[in-house]
Amino acid sequence: MENCIFCKIAEKKIPSTAVYEDDDLLAFKDINPAAPVHLLVIPKKHFATLQDAGSEPELLGKMLALAPRLAEEAGCAVRYDADGTPAQGYKTLINSGPDGGQEVYHLHLHVIGGAHPWRGQR
Ligand code: 5GP
Ligand code: ZN
Repeated sequence: MENCIFCKIAEKKIPSTAVYEDDDLLAFKDINPAAPVHLLVIPKKHFATLQDAGSEPELLGKMLALAPRLAEEAGCAVRYDADGTPAQGYKTLINSGPDGGQEVYHLHLHVIGGAHPWRGQR
């Protein structure tokens, strides 16, 4: 897709700090991190929004399933104390459309962790 910044990142026409890549997906560090860990997972194929990717459940599942792996590697995965209490963790987020706060119109999954400024918020 012409003039799509994330297509250009997927095609390596614009640099990014990649943390994962396969034939379908690329994950890279957000340029303006909201927390110590802030990664974006994108499909290499262009979908403007989640709304446009409804026919791709396998790809969406792959994107979501990558989050815990990335969190593990980034050191913010959920851990359980000896008594089973969960610790650490991260937020996974897809903004869709203007009312959803979407700014870049190429589907992306945020993985945000390493801090908890949103605790108690939605
Ligand atoms: P949205 O609001 O669309 O869900 O989030 C877009 C995200 O993309 C923002 O967190 C923003 O910081 C990030 N972003 C925008 N442009 C670039 C870029 O050129 N490179 C990288 N790595 N991240 C970007
Ligand atoms: Zn794109």
